This record gives sequence, C-alpha cells and structure tokens, in this order.
Amino acid sequence: MKNEKEWQRKLKECCRSVADISDRFSFTDEEINELISIEERYPVCIPEYYLSLIDSSDRHDPIRKMCVPDVMEFSEGGLKDTSGEADNTVVQGMQHKYRQTALILSTNQCAMYCRHCFRKRLVGYSSEEIAERLPEMADYVRRHTEISNVLISGGDAFLNSNEVIIKYLETFMAIPNISFIRFGTRNPVTFPFRITEDDGELTSILSDFALKKHIIVVTQFNHPREITEESVKSIRMLLVAGCSVFNQTVLLKGINDNPEILSALLNELVAIGIKPYYVFQCRPVEGVKNQFQVPLIRGSEIVDKAKSMMSGPAKAFRYAMSHPTGKIEILGKFGNSMLFKYHQAKQDEDSGRIFTRPVNEYECWF
Ligand code: SF4
Repeated sequence: MKNEKEWQRKLKECCRSVADISDRFSFTDEEINELISIEERYPVCIPEYYLSLIDSSDRHDPIRKMCVPDVMEFSEGGLKDTSGEADNTVVQGMQHKYRQTALILSTNQCAMYCRHCFRKRLVGYSSEEIAERLPEMADYVRRHTEISNVLISGGDAFLNSNEVIIKYLETFMAIPNISFIRFGTRNPVTFPFRITEDDGELTSILSDFALKKHIIVVTQFNHPREITEESVKSIRMLLVAGCSVFNQTVLLKGINDNPEILSALLNELVAIGIKPYYVFQCRPVEGVKNQFQVPLIRGSEIVDKAKSMMSGPAKAFRYAMSHPTGKIEILGKFGNSMLFKYHQAKQDEDSGRIFTRPVNEYECWF
C-alpha cells in the first residue's frame, strides 16, 4: 500500500460538521440547532488551513462567510439548477452546452464546501463512477469534432486521484480535435496542499502532459485574504509545471462587493501569475441567493469603479452571468435599461447578440 501523502492526511483533518467548529465561533444554542439542520441538507467541510484565515472576532468576516454555514441558507427562494445543467447532459457526468466545450463533472467531492456554491447540493456520482464512463465520453468527443476542449470540473477536479487525472489526460489528449484541457479546482485557494504536499507527483504529471497539449487550471479566488504564502506557492508550482492559471471570481455580497476589494484582488492575482478570466454574477441558487447575490445595477457599478483602479491585464476579464441560454456579458446601464451581450451562446443565432432589458435596482438575475 502506498504511503499516505501529507495532503491526504490533512484532508482527513478537515472539519466536517457544525460540532467540529462550534467551539471556535460564538453560536447561540438556537443557531447551533438550525445549523445542524442545514448541514443535513448542505454538507460542511472546511480545511484547517482555510479556517485559520478567518478573523473569528468578526461575525461578518468574508472568509468565514464562504465556509461557515449560516441560518440564511434556509431562507426562501432560489432554484436548484440555474444554467440548465440537466438539459445539457449527453453522457452521465458530461455536458455539452457550448459547441467547443465538453464539461465533465468528474467528482462530487471538494476539499471545502463553499457556502456560495451553485452546485450546492453536490449530489451526483463519485469520481470512480464517472471515470468508468470515460470510454463513452471519449467516443462522444471524438464524434463531435466541433469540441476543441474539455473542462474537467466537479466538485473539485483536483480531488480526483492522480491515477484518475492521468486517465483523463491520456484519454482526451489522444483525441485529435482536442487542443487544450481545463481543470476546475478551488484547491489552490482552499487547500493548496493538494498541490504543494503531494511529493511533487501531481505537478510532475501535469508537466509531462503540458508538453503535449495546453493545460489550463481554472480556480476561484474571491477575496485578497485568500492570497497567502501557501496559495501563492501552489500557483507557482502549477506555472512551473507549464500550466496556465485562470481565475473566475464570483461577485458576492459581503465578500467582494466593493471596488477597492475587487480591484485589489484582481491586481494581486495578476502579480502572482494568474489571468483574471471572469467575474461572475452569483446565481439565484436555493440556499445561496439571499445571502450572496448582488443586484445587477450595483454589480456593474462596482465592476466599473474597480476597473478604474486596475492595471490592463487585471481588467482583461468579463463580468458575466452563466444563464441557461449562454454566458451573457453584463455591459452596464443604458438609459433606463441595462445592456447585455452574449459572450457564448447555446443557440448559434444568439452568438454575439447585444440586447437591452429593463432592470430595477433590486434585480439580480433574469
Ligand atoms: S470548490 Fe467549487 S464546486 Fe466545490 S463547493 Fe466550492 S465552489 Fe462548489
């Protein structure tokens, strides 16, 4: 049997229940009871490392909000599937929404269960069950020559074993129409040890395959305080392995809905070698919407003001919403309406389409 790696040991130490964290926060008895019913619906998992970034004296600490369950998660409203994931599934575990991209939900595991996650219920198949369908997925991708890239997401793609990651890379790199592969992971932010304390194995796999085809790691930093010595080390290791690292931030109430914070975050990401890729409008997900969504008008004002404080590379992102009909760029106010543009469309006729829509100051989605 292989020796346990340090990251695997640390993963076992994650706090996985309200009971595990209750002595660190001053919850009332009533709150504890409510939080226990929340964890039955939305699982809790927080690495010790991420907990250490919290200022426990601040009830509204942004890092805390992203990982510690809150009674707001039971507030009314919201949807389960906000981008039509069920409709786009072509093989169990694989979706084909945009012409060029196949999306694989490779695992239902994450090192941390973010409270703002749009796949919040994280039901689905285990990494082993999904990996078993690889031949079927590869066949689909081979037959659909318009697919130029595969996005391996989750859950968290880096919570797959190295053996499974090799299988994905071998399978899809061998398909001629695939020109690059993306991994969606929050590990650099929430659990950098998966990369830094794997005895160099994961980065060596990535560097071998990166010589064949481009590998992009897509991560999600949402607040400047997530940029630490450990997270920077993990990013540098990915860059040295020959991967590109892109970031998608989610605009979140009480976390980064502030031009100074957002601009500091994106400027700092560029400084450590990450390309800001999207700032996403938070989706109207059940258990997330009321706690985290920022209205569209306010969001575009925040993004514009933040851009005025950013370097050119830091503002090379799009502020967008992942809608069932496509990725829609939120361009800003336009008279009494707002202006939008399809950045990626599910239907070809929407591609590049610009449109206006009346939006009031409270609306967060349409
Ligand atoms: S790591 Fe990603 S998929 Fe997992 S809970 Fe966080 S946002 Fe959701």
